[in-house]
Amino acid sequence: LPCSVKELSEAAGVPAVQILRILMDEGVMTNINAQMDPELTEFIAAELGVDVDFLQPETLEDRVLMRLEEIEDPEESLVARAPVVTFLGHVDHGKTSLLDRLIGIDVAGGESGGITQHIRAYRIENNGRPMAFVDTPGHEAFTEMRARGAGVTDIVVLVVAADDGVMPQTEEAISHAKAAGVPIIVALNKIDLPGVDPLRAMTDLNTNGLQPSEWGGDTEIVKTSATTGEGLDELLETILTVAELNEYVANPDRAAIGTCLESQQDADRGVVTKVLVQNGTLKVGDIVVCGDAYGRVKAMLDPLSPRTRLEEAGPSVPVNLTGLDIAPSAGARLYVLDDIAEAREIAETRGKSQHNEYLGATGFRQTTLDTLFERLDGADEVQTLNLILRADVRGSIEALEKELSKLEHPEVRLRILQRSVGGVTEGDVVLADASEAVIIAFNVVADDKARAKASELGVEIRRYSIIYKVAEDLKLALEGLLKPEQ
Ligand code: GDP
Repeated sequence: LPCSVKELSEAAGVPAVQILRILMDEGVMTNINAQMDPELTEFIAAELGVDVDFLQPETLEDRVLMRLEEIEDPEESLVARAPVVTFLGHVDHGKTSLLDRLIGIDVAGGESGGITQHIRAYRIENNGRPMAFVDTPGHEAFTEMRARGAGVTDIVVLVVAADDGVMPQTEEAISHAKAAGVPIIVALNKIDLPGVDPLRAMTDLNTNGLQPSEWGGDTEIVKTSATTGEGLDELLETILTVAELNEYVANPDRAAIGTCLESQQDADRGVVTKVLVQNGTLKVGDIVVCGDAYGRVKAMLDPLSPRTRLEEAGPSVPVNLTGLDIAPSAGARLYVLDDIAEAREIAETRGKSQHNEYLGATGFRQTTLDTLFERLDGADEVQTLNLILRADVRGSIEALEKELSKLEHPEVRLRILQRSVGGVTEGDVVLADASEAVIIAFNVVADDKARAKASELGVEIRRYSIIYKVAEDLKLALEGLLKPEQ
């Protein structure tokens, strides 16, 4: 139940600026029309010394969707589902070509400027064993989906061109995949080029925390060529082996839950929504709600052969569906409901409140060093503090890491999601948002886009120019984090 700064100020009889000042102290820059979630509202009220009471009943959305999300699938209903695989990598390393070759079409050749614009999602079979490929336009899109709670990917295939090796975007992609906590398979691509030295790329990968299995590590590195087709069978086999090890399962006999990958208004067919079904089975005629859109599934088309109409789609099956009233945004969850009136009400309520993203869902939830203690207080397990390091030169990163490694504590784990040379980018901020990380900017600044994104998402960027100061602040934060002695 969001409440705006203005509403709270009127209800509590205090000037809005006073509330804004409290928010600012919490690192939230905002205006009087910004919506705050109940948690934040209560926090402010406590600061002001007033009581708040939320009178509105829980919404229909809460009742219906939470229930659907919480249905537990009985053990015996679970069956193996196809792995959902995402390809990431530095531009021009052959992501699109590899995927094209695997699914037998040619998008790379026909694309303007060779830049993948849209999310593609396809299902293929290798000797009767299915897998789904989701091709995002880049690792930022991958992480944005995750930030919205739509972690659709089971396995990442990291494409690295053997002639180029690990490049900055490769490093970023590694961080994003690692932050997602999914297995990474490396496709060491362009192996057909004369004079390439796979050893160099493997050494780079090794230094980036991906130890090749042939060197005793646990990263499978498959040498591939999208041009000659070499290694592609092995790549598919490796994907399937990793999938078998991880035993991905779902219950096909329940109402479907899925995620919108993208959606657009098509002149002929109306709204076409690319959906990945994640659990249950979606059927033509089902009543669905997806973000602020709703409708009855009119038709489902196989994204690979748009003329093939599907009557139903089970877990890990991507479809292009028609029947929604408007285009939902990427990352929106799709649910099947019993009642079209309910679906409409939920969609319309969401549509109205959408312009006001709750502060609670963005700014306040974010980890800052100051609020770390409160956020993690009361949790039992070992706590993780995620960090993203940005510095002027390699040497600074090494020195920082060395300093930080001394801060290890049995109850708090420091996890450096990404370490790179150069200014803070929008990608860092997106990653920090999805991973509740704090960005440490050492002798560097954030570019304009990054700064705007950080204030939009409420991500903390801490600037430093003295190494010991970083360590000192973190030490303080870590001490605040420690569980009280029993
Ligand atoms: P993306 O940006 O990662 O999607 O890369 P593309 O698939 O668009 O490939 C970039 C360029 O590398 C294109 O000109 C491809 O033809 C070429 N390419 C991709 N894979 C291979 C490969 O295995 N061998 C060779 N020789 N060229 C490749």
